[in-house]
Amino acid sequence: MSNLKQHGNLRINADRLWSRHMEMAKIGAIPGDGNCRLAMSAEDAEARSLFASWCHAAGMSLQVDAAGNMFALRPGSNPTLPPIAAGSHLDTQPHGGRFDGISGVLAALEVVETLNDAGIETEAPIAVINWTNEEGVRFGPGLMGSSWFVGNITDEGLAAIQDAEGTSFIAEAATRGWCGLQAAGAFPMGAFFELHIEQGPQLEALGDQVGIVTSVQGLKWLDVVVTGMDGHAGTTPLDHRHDALLIAARMLVALNETGRAFGQDARVSVGRLTTATDGPSTIVGEAQLVIDLRHPNAKVLSQLADECEAICRAIAAEAGCGISVSERISIAPKHFNQSCIDALASAAQELGFQHSEIASGALHDACNIADVTPTAMVFVPCRDGISHNVREYASREDLAAGTSVLLQAMLAKAGLAGSEKVAA
Ligand SMILES: [Zn+2]
Repeated sequence: MSNLKQHGNLRINADRLWSRHMEMAKIGAIPGDGNCRLAMSAEDAEARSLFASWCHAAGMSLQVDAAGNMFALRPGSNPTLPPIAAGSHLDTQPHGGRFDGISGVLAALEVVETLNDAGIETEAPIAVINWTNEEGVRFGPGLMGSSWFVGNITDEGLAAIQDAEGTSFIAEAATRGWCGLQAAGAFPMGAFFELHIEQGPQLEALGDQVGIVTSVQGLKWLDVVVTGMDGHAGTTPLDHRHDALLIAARMLVALNETGRAFGQDARVSVGRLTTATDGPSTIVGEAQLVIDLRHPNAKVLSQLADECEAICRAIAAEAGCGISVSERISIAPKHFNQSCIDALASAAQELGFQHSEIASGALHDACNIADVTPTAMVFVPCRDGISHNVREYASREDLAAGTSVLLQAMLAKAGLAGSEKVAA
């Protein structure tokens, strides 16, 4: 008879976890230690086959649903309990790295292999998941598999997805041999965990090995149109102009300052600025920009949006230009399940890893799954915060620390066969 406390120090096999990363990285390798495995490409199919072979070797059965999501299952002693699941995605960006997504899938597999090695039978089954097309490069949108799984994309919507050449996603998945029969949401879960590289610089700056992700920040897009007057660059004196591009430029500077004034958690970006005319000798009469705003706190995000709008209006008014501001997108911040957060935090505490709570700057499959299942994420630092880049790197030690935290949290949620649950 064993109890959870006895396994409280159990850690994963760091060398095996690392060597699996390096094995996987051979598929779709590109110069500079990068990877290109676009969803449902030949490379993605090969990565899936390798992952499936590892799952089978670890004694798991495999189910595939109609979006190609892969669910590997390790039975528990109580088959009536829903599986405690973990996973992420094996597809990459065109110039992607070896860790974004991959680490979450391989960490979940490593949890199972560690349980196998230690001869531990859990009460609830354990599942390892590969979500299809998280990156959304050739086929859009991103987070495709998990969005369909939770019903944010309908069956008809999935069937209508095509690449730029008109090839259907479903047809391509079938060609590659990764279009299953299982319906959306058919795989039950008692909890879902996703390990992921941070993709930002915070953990590294703090010297933390592990980040316990409490939330995913909210997002707003504001469409701004500045209206001035077209004019001749040679004949219009500088003090007689209503130059919409110049006013937009003032806005960019002021927006950045406003974002900084809202503190470390605020993000204010303008990645798109277009003008109605495109002539070197024409003073711009109309400029359009999109302000991308992010913050983990819904109230602060709204205040930030209000402040940005007010600043833009004031700058336009001062210059005698017209302005319109409208909200195009608003996604509320998402807080993960407290019980799942606590399981990860106490695991990090018990194992003695330096850790802190962190909000995710990027969207992940876990954000979708959180709508239907108790969910939380664990972050591992990545060098210089770089991702979506061939230079993306996470260390063997940090990956191992995050995966050991994942192991303990999953063990706490799944319980041990033949023993009463002992609170950690
Ligand atoms: Zn990812």
